[in-house]
Amino acid sequence: MTRSSIIITDIDFDRDGKQVGTLNLPQSPHEDAWGVMPIPIAVIKNGTGPTVLLEGGNHGDEYEGPIILGRMIRDLDPAEIQGRLIMIPAINTPAVIAGQRTSPVDGLNFNRCFPGDPLGTMTQQIAHYVHDVLFELADAFLDLHSGGSSLDILPSAIVEPSEDNPELTEKNFRAAAAFGAPYTVVLNNLGDPRTATASAVRAGLITVGTELGRGGSVSLDSLQIGSRGVCNVLAHLGVMGGAVTTPPPTGQGSRAVRVPGAAGYVYSPAAGVFEPFHEKGARIEEGAEAGLVHFLNDPGRAPVAATYKCSGRLYARRQPGRVDPGNCVGVVVVDVENG
Ligand code: CA
Repeated sequence: MTRSSIIITDIDFDRDGKQVGTLNLPQSPHEDAWGVMPIPIAVIKNGTGPTVLLEGGNHGDEYEGPIILGRMIRDLDPAEIQGRLIMIPAINTPAVIAGQRTSPVDGLNFNRCFPGDPLGTMTQQIAHYVHDVLFELADAFLDLHSGGSSLDILPSAIVEPSEDNPELTEKNFRAAAAFGAPYTVVLNNLGDPRTATASAVRAGLITVGTELGRGGSVSLDSLQIGSRGVCNVLAHLGVMGGAVTTPPPTGQGSRAVRVPGAAGYVYSPAAGVFEPFHEKGARIEEGAEAGLVHFLNDPGRAPVAATYKCSGRLYARRQPGRVDPGNCVGVVVVDVENG
């Protein structure tokens, strides 16, 4: 039997104008028997047109998306759009408040919880609401991520490919290219079906992800790229007027690349401190050393190398020096072949 969400809201998704409110998720922790976790949401609607769901705070230590959406919530006049924007700038609210990738309530990564569970833990319940309620209302989905605490990533719009709908993959590619980030990256998290974007694509939504900043910081260039990119996608989808697409700061247009599956990822071979050999954006040769893991408390022991498994360009690299075996220390992308 299908269960429905226990989340309650005063938001009327069908009303024209701007509404700023909360999704209230009942919770009953030690210090609050009959309380709720308020999750901020805004709906801006004007007449008929596509519905776009804009999400920030999927991971709580990725800040450009929440800042960009907050600014839009405060500044956007309903008359500036045609259609409906549903904006959830801090969707995994407990993680955003804590400044952590995962929720301090249940320890879960929201982006590995889809399609969610209406009677599961808090993070599973939020994922279920997004999947069963908000995806149902939406034609398109923007999921605004950044590098978070552990990664430094080239500013990019992400294409989540559909497994069985090449037409939707093409629509996602065009929408991501319209974002106008320096890189447009085809990336499917090694086929993991539990992410928000994979789930949105399965639901048939035009879907664009981003990777904007680095190291749990707020990056000026990424804020600029992201603000412009969100408006560009809304213009592309016909929700906002005006062709606002301008060349990205590189001045070269957006470069289309893809993560070539498992070969793109470099993992630490040991516990220690990782010395990277390349900055992000560097050209990479297959078999070359990505860096060395040093054993700081055993200086007589030779460091161990991590090596690249494919040639391409360094898309992301680890931020903290300290590593454990299996930590991702680098991600390589290859150019998308023309045609
Ligand atoms: Ca993320």
